[in-house]
Amino acid sequence: MESVLAAVRVAPRTTVIREFPMPDIAPDCALLKMEVAGICGTDVKLYGEPPSSAPVIMGHENIGYIAKAGSEFTRRKGFREGDLVFLEHYVSCGQCDWCHQGQYRHCESTDWRYNPNAIRYGYTPSDVAPHLWGGFAQFVYLPWNAVLHHVPKGVTPELAGLATPMSNGIEWSLFEGGVGYDSTVLIQGPGQQGLSQTVICRQAGASLIIVTGTSRDRARLEVAKALGADRVIDVNQEDPLARVKEITGGKGVDVVLDCTAGAGTAPILLGVEALKRRGGTMVAQGEMALFPDFPIGRLTVKAITIKSARGHSFRACELALQQLASKRFPLEKVTTHRFGLHDVDLAIRSVGGEGVPDVIHASLMPWQ
Ligand SMILES: [Zn+2]
Ligand SMILES: [Zn+2]
Repeated sequence: MESVLAAVRVAPRTTVIREFPMPDIAPDCALLKMEVAGICGTDVKLYGEPPSSAPVIMGHENIGYIAKAGSEFTRRKGFREGDLVFLEHYVSCGQCDWCHQGQYRHCESTDWRYNPNAIRYGYTPSDVAPHLWGGFAQFVYLPWNAVLHHVPKGVTPELAGLATPMSNGIEWSLFEGGVGYDSTVLIQGPGQQGLSQTVICRQAGASLIIVTGTSRDRARLEVAKALGADRVIDVNQEDPLARVKEITGGKGVDVVLDCTAGAGTAPILLGVEALKRRGGTMVAQGEMALFPDFPIGRLTVKAITIKSARGHSFRACELALQQLASKRFPLEKVTTHRFGLHDVDLAIRSVGGEGVPDVIHASLMPWQ
């Protein structure tokens, strides 16, 4: 019997290569041959502190070719063998209001935090048949309710690997933050997520984009400038609030986007003060479970709206893929590193700032 190689997280910061049986593909299902799995900050978190002890094939930002497609799968969904696709990590119920709106991220069937039967690529344990629920593998199983997008012609699998951060960029900055023509924006954190927001804000017509980082982010801040940031701030060298005030002539910014990792309460506190006098919007990740001494008074006095940075909608993915196809920005400065299946551990640690230096976006290529 044919088998499939996969990198499996078996404990915190521990990966082993395992073989799984090639799944049978029913008429309403398909099989994805993986090309690129993007690695992001969420992988760093899930690798260090797994939500359970069950074995998991990680990899939730997946690009590949349809290797096998059942006749019903093709008839219903319009995807056929040989198509290059971007697979959303949400496996939808296909029936609820959220699914009909293309907001699979909000569907109860994808909610791994509260629904023990939720299916989500990169999260669902590999002991759940037919096992291939993550992109750090040669093949991924596609049930009838997998959510796929066609990758436009001219977009390579590696470039398409940016579809997830770019779609988050569209969702968070445009749809949640309302960034548009003449907006002034503070983007905190110059990782792949903050850089994607930079591109989207530029494309949307923002008149001022400020990107912050630490002294370790020097190379990333240079990339931010190349992608359209007007100003960058090293928060270890300068007082970021004073700089934002200076750059904006004391006004503050319209929108703050939090794309930091492991920075605690500081980005939110800076955001509250860096926003304009009245009516700004902050899109927050909320990494901490609690926020002691949260300045709720400042929030209400300034009439600030806080929105939640949580994944992306179907529409955001489609727009992200179009953005990638436009080749308008030098995104090859973002896709900095490639790793093979046997280097999953090194790849995740490198995205987390250990291992290989200066990684912005890591492409895991399971056939290398
Ligand atoms: Zn991710
Ligand atoms: Zn649903």
